[in-house]
Amino acid sequence: MMTLNIQLFAVPFRKVSKTRKRMRRSHNAIVAPSMVKCPNCGEAIKPHRVCPKCGYYKGKEVVSKKEA
Ligand SMILES: [Zn+2]
Repeated sequence: MMTLNIQLFAVPFRKVSKTRKRMRRSHNAIVAPSMVKCPNCGEAIKPHRVCPKCGYYKGKEVVSKKEA
């Protein structure tokens, strides 16, 4: 059976054109995480996750949080 054995080597930076470097880095941007407001406490939370502040998800308390 034929095996594809590809080794990736470091390429000297002058051998990579500005365009090629910029094209590669076009996917490297960091995007801010999307946040929604918790309908129970109003805290900014990530969607589709239990609220880390009040422990509510879909209108029910699923993780009990002790009140400080
Ligand atoms: Zn909440």
